[in-house]
Amino acid sequence: MINKVKRLLAFLKGYLLAKRGKHLSREKIDKMQLKAFNAFRRNVLVKSSFYSLYSTDNLAQFPVINKAIHMNNFDTINTQELVKKDALNIAIQSERSRNFKPEYKGFSVGLSSGTSGNRGLFVVSEQEQAQWVGYIIGKMLPLSIKKHRVAFFLRANNNLYQSANGLMISFQFFDLINGISANIDELNNFSPTLLIAPGSVLRRIAQSPTRISPSRVIAVAEVLEHEDRQIIEQRFNIKVEQIYQCTEGFLAASCSAGNLHLNEDTCIIEKQWLDKSTGRFSPIVTDLRRTTQPVVRYLLDDVLIEDTTPCECGSAMTRIKNIEGRCDDVLKFKGITGADVDVFSDYIRNTIISSSDEIEHYKLTQTDKNKVLIEIHPLKPKIINNITQGLDNLCLRLSVISPEYTFKAIPLKVGMEKQRRVVRLCNG
Ligand SMILES: [Zn+2]
Repeated sequence: MINKVKRLLAFLKGYLLAKRGKHLSREKIDKMQLKAFNAFRRNVLVKSSFYSLYSTDNLAQFPVINKAIHMNNFDTINTQELVKKDALNIAIQSERSRNFKPEYKGFSVGLSSGTSGNRGLFVVSEQEQAQWVGYIIGKMLPLSIKKHRVAFFLRANNNLYQSANGLMISFQFFDLINGISANIDELNNFSPTLLIAPGSVLRRIAQSPTRISPSRVIAVAEVLEHEDRQIIEQRFNIKVEQIYQCTEGFLAASCSAGNLHLNEDTCIIEKQWLDKSTGRFSPIVTDLRRTTQPVVRYLLDDVLIEDTTPCECGSAMTRIKNIEGRCDDVLKFKGITGADVDVFSDYIRNTIISSSDEIEHYKLTQTDKNKVLIEIHPLKPKIINNITQGLDNLCLRLSVISPEYTFKAIPLKVGMEKQRRVVRLCNG
């Protein structure tokens, strides 16, 4: 009972936060961020042995870290004495069995691949989840008496998304591992009012014989390609909205005018400029709401393009013209029945990153119908074995014929090039 009340309060807090943020001036946003960071440091960061060393309210004095540093220091960064090895084991087990219920000391754990190659691990409490759900609903949905029916297509489910059920929305998760056609009947029966999926999946749903007519369609997890957007909008006769979210937080969302704004009411997002003249930067994220696994000055390798034109929606939060760097291809392998089968990059990415802790950089290119080139750093026999085995298992699960694999070393690099890790170079 107490837990339920706590969850409801957290939900309301998230909801109100999202509603309030829309109407703040730039000056108020800056002031609010300062105040929120001070409170965050005193209430949360003092419990993290990694961050308690910094006894200042000046964010600029904290180190800028990346995924590798964050993951290497997971045990001292988190505030609940959680151990990375144990959390990873549970997350990997969930991913393999596709049973996403197990928890670790009462916390939900999940894996993410992201664009930086090696995997990320996220751990959240029930209250953080409830607040997250409240915030998303406040941001994306009008409060209505009618229950929203949300259909969510993702590579992996986890408790984070399950927690949405019951609070003003009914929620159904569709596992992409089953393919889209296997989900069509269920999707028709559920008849979602809101459809959430990666852009390339939305496109396939739009092109499939479904009878659904959602009132909102939201693209997540990858860049929404222009061509996909057109097809989706034509089929559903509505504008596609976007949520830009990753392990490190819910970073941006479409506004009523259809433009992306950074969620500066829950995050402080500093800019590491790549090219100021074109507005390109990588975000350095401080998430003011994460209490179990604090995210402080965390540099993402995504590339965002700022749009300095004021938005007609009236929001003073930074407007984003586009997100680059999350645009992997969909591969096509030969199915055991002879027909081509789409293999989403998410599966490939996840298979590779869960093959070994040591992988720092990789790129997989489909060079022919039955051939893939896997460039990897470091190139070691054990990693090659694990990846081969993982991809073979994936092919078995998807009922496709395993392609021929060629492995090659890839140097570590940083730069402006779009971070495509899964690429298809062949046609047909
Ligand atoms: Zn706007």
